[in-house]
Amino acid sequence: MEQTEPIPNQSLYQAIWKAKISPKLQLLLWKIVKGALASGENLAKRGLLSNITCRHCGEFETTNHIFLHCSFTRQIWTAHIWKLNFNPSDCASFSEAFMASRSHINLPPLGVTGNLFPWLCWGIWMARNYLIFESRASLPADIVSRSTRNAREWWEAQPTSPAAPLGQNRVTTTASGTTGMIICCSDAAWQAMTNRAGCGWIFTEESGECILQGTATFDHTVSPLMAEALAIRSALLHALEAGFSRICIKSDCQALVAVITSTHHPTELYGITRDIEHLSLSFDCIAFTFIPRNLNVMADSLAKSVMYLASAN
Ligand SMILES: [Zn+2]
Repeated sequence: MEQTEPIPNQSLYQAIWKAKISPKLQLLLWKIVKGALASGENLAKRGLLSNITCRHCGEFETTNHIFLHCSFTRQIWTAHIWKLNFNPSDCASFSEAFMASRSHINLPPLGVTGNLFPWLCWGIWMARNYLIFESRASLPADIVSRSTRNAREWWEAQPTSPAAPLGQNRVTTTASGTTGMIICCSDAAWQAMTNRAGCGWIFTEESGECILQGTATFDHTVSPLMAEALAIRSALLHALEAGFSRICIKSDCQALVAVITSTHHPTELYGITRDIEHLSLSFDCIAFTFIPRNLNVMADSLAKSVMYLASAN
């Protein structure tokens, strides 16, 4: 097992909470240095042994491996990001890499002046999740361009006046929903003939205001129950990407809610409930509840329309 990080000190905490980055990135950095990220190593400590090796190289998945040392990650760190020779892979710990990254200047073609390291870590973490849970692979170059674009868009959206630094207080009041719960209604449509699932989900504030929605289709889906489980798994991935940390998932499939809230993982769900359990660990607060079908019409119509579109193509 890899050496544990030295105890993070006050200046590291301050550097994280004062960094001019999106609050969801601050939370990611915080979880990494506190050993609270749902990496293979941290899952193993909780006795969850289903995803503990790296999908790229098969090594034990520590956070240092994911963000610094994996051969896949190394390709990102050598992708001509910084003016001076800076390679996070050479750092002994994540904390050291983050602290060092703050003084490095980006190469001009990237068009971004702030610290890109946290954005790239976010990109690496999201790509890792989509690879594990939906077998969707990203190339290192995709991660670099996506992360740079996200960083640029976020910085451009910030007020130009010398605003108060993004301190810890800001995090608790952000619109990304870290105070109240985000409600997520999910639903699936299933076609027996093609074994295809259409999944839809919709995120709303507690006030009922819709903030985000998503759809996905999956082939080789063998039952309506599996389709409903895939919808929840995709919704959780999307929620994670959006930076929601407190979430309430509502499904009109009572059988599935019962399975998820128990510790039983039926074999006919092919590990999807295990994935849901794994993903749940990335949220500060998560609940799964049943919702009657007549109150789930928006997610239902999203699922049906994506299924219809997939079948029409
Ligand atoms: Zn690896």
